[in-house]
Amino acid sequence: MTGTRIATFALASLASGALLTAQTAGPAPGESLSQSYRASQGRNVEYQKIAPFKVMDNVYYVGPGSVSVWLVPTSAGLILFDAAQEPFVDTVLDNIRKVGFDPKNIKYILLTHGHLDHFGGAAKIQKLSGARVALTEVDWNFMATQQANAIKNGRAPKPGDEAPMKDMVIKEGDTITLGDTKVKVYVLPGHTPGSPSYELTVYDNKKPYKGFVFGGPGPRNGVDGGTEFLKSIERLEKEFADVQVALNVHSFLNSYPYPNNMGLLEMRDVKAKNPNGPNPFINNALWRQWLKDAHAGAVKYIADEKAKAQKGQTN
Ligand SMILES: [Zn+2]
Repeated sequence: MTGTRIATFALASLASGALLTAQTAGPAPGESLSQSYRASQGRNVEYQKIAPFKVMDNVYYVGPGSVSVWLVPTSAGLILFDAAQEPFVDTVLDNIRKVGFDPKNIKYILLTHGHLDHFGGAAKIQKLSGARVALTEVDWNFMATQQANAIKNGRAPKPGDEAPMKDMVIKEGDTITLGDTKVKVYVLPGHTPGSPSYELTVYDNKKPYKGFVFGGPGPRNGVDGGTEFLKSIERLEKEFADVQVALNVHSFLNSYPYPNNMGLLEMRDVKAKNPNGPNPFINNALWRQWLKDAHAGAVKYIADEKAKAQKGQTN
């Protein structure tokens, strides 16, 4: 009996998997390429496994299509920003090898926030490399709570998705140094209670540029989270308007898409088509336009959340 049920289930999932691939092996109508990785192809595992690519002299994209994993080689080992989640962790490790590096040389895994799609692979990659895993105190605690909540709600993380054990605690103003590379830490909450962001110098044909990983690029958690997020955006507008290379944590953002349809994969393709032309990842105007969009979006998000809360009170 059990055997039959398992066989039927396996057949059904095989059929729906095949159907999914046949129907949607690419962007759905009206979708951009990057958008397809978050939307219509969000659960298409094979589609998500994209080839790694070089972005700057010292920056490679090694993640699946929907969530970024950035590899930064230094003179003393590798830094990884985020770790993706299962079933993509082996793909990330393979991608690191494909661009010529040994994952065992990863010294730091710098997490952008305590959400599963970013931290899921951290424990496995740490085990393989002995890397330090870094996050803010607030988000270490948030990550643990999130896991506890998942179990409480009967949806335990899949094997391999366990949150890493609390390791390196980082805070505003810290500098993480590895060989010739320095990474400055800022805390810009709103997406999670303690999302860190990272600043580092990136190079294109040996010329330095200001690179930035904004760890929590969309508001969550109602009026409170929205208000914190807006404050973070205002700080970015004041102190970080000069960012030249935005190392975004997703190829596409549902909340505030990158302007001019320039998601991560569109930029990749522009670069591949014209390898000797200007590097499309160096684009301060695009960053500033995105900040403007995010600012307006955050104001609207707060207003909508306030309206929702009021409606809830009068009901
Ligand atoms: Zn998130």
